[in-house]
Amino acid sequence: MPLFLPHFNLQKLNTLAVPAVADYFVAVHNDDELREALAFTRTENCPLLLLGGGSNIVLRDDFPGVVIQLKSQGKEVVAETDDHVWLKVAAGENWHQLVQYTLNNALYGLENLSLIPGSVGAAPIQNIGAYGVEVKELITELSAFEIRSGIVVNFTNESCRFGYRDSIFKQSLKDQYVITSVTFRLNKTAHVNLSYPALRDALRDIETVTPQAVSDAVIAIRQSKLPDPAIIPNVGSFFKNPIISSEQLHVLRANFPDIVSYPVDSHRVKLAAGWLIDRAGWRGKAAAGAQVHAQQALVLTNPAKASGATVLALAEYIQQSVAEQFGVVLEMEPRIYP
Ligand SMILES: Cc1cc2nc3c(=O)[nH]c(=O)nc-3n(C[C@H](O)[C@H](O)[C@H](O)COP(=O)(O)OP(=O)(O)OC[C@H]3O[C@@H](n4cnc5c(N)ncnc54)[C@H](O)[C@@H]3O)c2cc1C
Repeated sequence: MPLFLPHFNLQKLNTLAVPAVADYFVAVHNDDELREALAFTRTENCPLLLLGGGSNIVLRDDFPGVVIQLKSQGKEVVAETDDHVWLKVAAGENWHQLVQYTLNNALYGLENLSLIPGSVGAAPIQNIGAYGVEVKELITELSAFEIRSGIVVNFTNESCRFGYRDSIFKQSLKDQYVITSVTFRLNKTAHVNLSYPALRDALRDIETVTPQAVSDAVIAIRQSKLPDPAIIPNVGSFFKNPIISSEQLHVLRANFPDIVSYPVDSHRVKLAAGWLIDRAGWRGKAAAGAQVHAQQALVLTNPAKASGATVLALAEYIQQSVAEQFGVVLEMEPRIYP
């Protein structure tokens, strides 16, 4: 039986450094320990929070239940052709270390997703994405335990219903499965993706751009723009970029000619949430210890290590003010507990 620690402070296990206490905390290192921990929470009928790296959650308050942190490790080549390798990776592996491992082993595709904090098991939950790539493009399948029954289920890429920062695990199957491993189809030959303008610009002087050069450039851009959570607590982007109709953009553009948008399809566009927050006057503003990051208004920071409720109060002020000024609803990206 894995060790259950009572009255456990989660401050060091969430990148927003919120001081919240869980009734019980247990780290699991393999499927058997996970099965036992889930069986305990079932018999005690207590709320459950699955934790990876804690880089996409906000703890509004103490957690009245069991927090299970996935620490399982392991990578296995499960299939190979002349062009591709299928790599099955345990949920508890660190995401950025996986990206580096693939590059060191001449396996390509993940390089644009370098330096995203967190675990492999959480990557499919919100279909992590950055610099022109979403992880759904590389995932072929994943394994998960159904929390209620403990049954192991394999999900194909299609059945994960991936969308922009979204998957079935945030929708109809929310809080119902623990992802235990993810299988990626990686390329043996390099096909770099330079569709993201800032990345293309950063690499414009290099004649032959390798996946390693892409990874290095992504790391450099991220380090220049985003606060390091180890120094200034944060959870990355606090809001999703809102998707609106082209007609709504047309109306907004009449008042705000420089509004930043990206096409989604023939009738929808994505607005830059950071631009909306900035234009609403929030960049650099602070409220009771939480702050809007001065270099990137989409990021809320928690330099004073204030409570989750404090950070959420600031987020709600921002939502209200953006709705009033632009008529646009900002949706929070991190999951909020309890
Ligand atoms: C500085 C910074 C930059 C970031 N940049 C990006 C970015 O560019 N793109 C992007 O998409 N995200 C970004 N993020 C957000 C975050 O890194 C990702 O969402 C990451 O995948 C979260 O992983 P985690 O292990 O920390 O998840 P956690 O925060 O521990 O958990 C997030 C959610 O997933 C659930 N979960 C975790 N593991 C499992 C599992 N094995 N099975 C089932 N459910 C699980 C949790 O219960 C929770 O609901 C950034 C965050 C920070 C702090």
